[in-house]
Amino acid sequence: MKNKKLGLNSRMIHGGEFENPLGSATVPIYQTSTFIFKDADHGARCFSGEDDGYIYTRIGNPTIHALETMVADLESGSTGIATSSGMAAVNTLYMALLSKGDHIVSSAAVYGPSRVVMEQHWSRFGVESTYVNTANIDEVKAAIRPNTKMIYVETPANPTMDITDLEACAKLAHDNGALLVVDNTFSSPYLQRPLELGADAVFHSMTKFLNGHADIVAGMIVTREKELGKKLRSMMINLGCNMDPHQAYMVLRGIKTLGIRVERSQQSAMQIARFLEAHPKVEWVKYPGLESHPQHELAKKQMHGFGSMISFELKGGLEAGKVLMNNVQVAILAVSLGGVETLIQHPASMTHSKVSHDAKLKAGITDGLVRYSVGIEDVEDLLEDLKQGLDRI
Ligand SMILES: *Cc1c(COP(=O)(O)O)cnc(C)c1O
Repeated sequence: MKNKKLGLNSRMIHGGEFENPLGSATVPIYQTSTFIFKDADHGARCFSGEDDGYIYTRIGNPTIHALETMVADLESGSTGIATSSGMAAVNTLYMALLSKGDHIVSSAAVYGPSRVVMEQHWSRFGVESTYVNTANIDEVKAAIRPNTKMIYVETPANPTMDITDLEACAKLAHDNGALLVVDNTFSSPYLQRPLELGADAVFHSMTKFLNGHADIVAGMIVTREKELGKKLRSMMINLGCNMDPHQAYMVLRGIKTLGIRVERSQQSAMQIARFLEAHPKVEWVKYPGLESHPQHELAKKQMHGFGSMISFELKGGLEAGKVLMNNVQVAILAVSLGGVETLIQHPASMTHSKVSHDAKLKAGITDGLVRYSVGIEDVEDLLEDLKQGLDRI
């Protein structure tokens, strides 16, 4: 077994680098801010990098290191950099990789704050941005300028579920001297590994699938190359957006069941998407597993499963959507996603409320769009719950 690479599920349980002198079965929480040097020379060697001993938790910590090496391996990358939240990962990437006068081409349908922070804040420091439907590679090509340094893609996109061709985007980025950065939150490394398709960096809001229990906020960046990893780690340390050891422990625990959670929830999602598509009160459904999804074939090729996020719009638009959201009894009305509990929310007034109305419409985020994140409850209960909610409209 020693020389054989274990499967994803086994690595989620046994992976992650951790020195284990006492033989504990799980990685303990090293709840300490600082580490004792053996002597003054040892301290100096730790700082110079000759010795890889721990110094201070913002710089590194054994519990966090176990998680970083775990997720880096799951993503087929070289370096993992844990952050306090998904947004801390986004801002670390922007700050480390973009300078005054640089330009970024981004998916128009992205997590609301990833766009808002670029348009309202990074713009103040002279970073330019263009938002296009990255599911259409010609739109990406047309948006590239001589100063484009980053193509930023979310696929499946939040909340439109559009799928972007990552191999084509990676090639386009590299042909133009830019990097491809991918928000892989919606898929988790269990279903999609963008670094294998040519992306330079991938990141997660581990608040979602990786942790999976709606009890922690956390982020992670993984790079393909070590050099890029060093640059990003240095920025994370200087920004001070490090993870806490307790957070790291919680996510390590969550990852152990990632495979079975994703399998269960995506099995239910397929059934729910088919139920919605056949329901007379439903105008449209977007789920990558449906043959009607415009990029269904690409999803089959690029992903290892279709995931558990569904967006749809009812025939009565927003008003009908509100009746449904106010009447579900098993699913809970809350933002976030990727947890064991099924969640329903309204992107236009909730997760994407700070994105301008025009930008939302251009990105396909209509007023009536409802987003549904399938959990691991009994699918019969979820179907019954939706049915009785739809009956009230
Ligand atoms: C939640 C989310 C983020 C932001 O992550 P936080 O952990 O909330 O900071 C970024 N991208 C996507 C796709 C998300 O769903």
